[in-house]
Amino acid sequence: MKEAYLYEKLDGNKVRCSLCNHRCVIKDGAVGICGVRENTGGTLTSLVYPKVIARHVDPIEKKPLFHFLPGSRSYSIATVGCNFRCVFCQNADISQMPRDRGQIWGEDTAPEEIVWDALNSRSATIAYTYTEPTVYFELALDTARIAAARGVKNIFVSNGYMTGECLREIHPDLHGANVDLKAYSERFYKEQCGAKLDPVLRTLETMVNLGVWLEVTTLLIPGLNDAESELRDIARFLAGLDAGIPWHISRFHPTYRLTTVHATPPGSLQRAREIGYEEGLQYVYTGNVPGDEGERTLCHGCGELLIDRYGFAVRKNALRDGSCPACGVKVPGVWA
Ligand code: SF4
Repeated sequence: MKEAYLYEKLDGNKVRCSLCNHRCVIKDGAVGICGVRENTGGTLTSLVYPKVIARHVDPIEKKPLFHFLPGSRSYSIATVGCNFRCVFCQNADISQMPRDRGQIWGEDTAPEEIVWDALNSRSATIAYTYTEPTVYFELALDTARIAAARGVKNIFVSNGYMTGECLREIHPDLHGANVDLKAYSERFYKEQCGAKLDPVLRTLETMVNLGVWLEVTTLLIPGLNDAESELRDIARFLAGLDAGIPWHISRFHPTYRLTTVHATPPGSLQRAREIGYEEGLQYVYTGNVPGDEGERTLCHGCGELLIDRYGFAVRKNALRDGSCPACGVKVPGVWA
């Protein structure tokens, strides 16, 4: 347990947490919505520091980040807990463990050990992923600072619900992020995730303004967020921020509490990808369909094949110093 960062003490031994946009006011003896931050006698503590539930060496393509050191390894960690309760969560066994089972598991792992393991595995990055890094912010921040000082970059795979204070605190040592934009409707966020859309949009804007490399993922769920008008809204919003933001549209498979909806038809993914291009985005990808042509990076200037992938494997990378070898256009991303 560790005293939390970013909270304030209120009257009556209450506290207000400022890590995410729920901004929970927590009574003495209670926990916040995420279930991993507890008020003990007027002090907010993290219950997951430093309890690492998962650590793996992943290809960075798995995050997914396609324009950030392609072909490199990413040392990936998580604790249990999440500030969302998505009915379609693919990692619900660990993200919802505190709320569904009242348990907090994990192996005590100091930030120095995480960085050591990342260096030993020749990982270029540490990814804070699988669950929501905002709710284990103390561990992420302590680790990220040490990692950055040792030349290891840090990336968040996040639902984007952190506050501006939280993002600005870690931003100097946060080099990239993949943020879910799960839908473009307040109703979807409220009913399917227990959250709100607008704070996520603000986070995306802030990341772009701070210069954090950003890629965005939308899990395409039949009947819930796949209307053409909604996909156009997402693509238009992203293109308005920066046309070079890669947009990943992933295939849904029935899971957790959403088992009555069928998997996304491949044709829907392809149509969503076309919509992304029609709305002005330069790089739109399909995910969870190994072998699909939507895994490839084609130059936005001339259409040249730049990076060929199969699943998470890079089969060919023709980029030259981040530029297209055919037409010379600079391709947005972090390449070295
Ligand atoms: S991180 Fe947890 S306790 Fe803090 S505001 Fe978000 S849900 Fe509430």
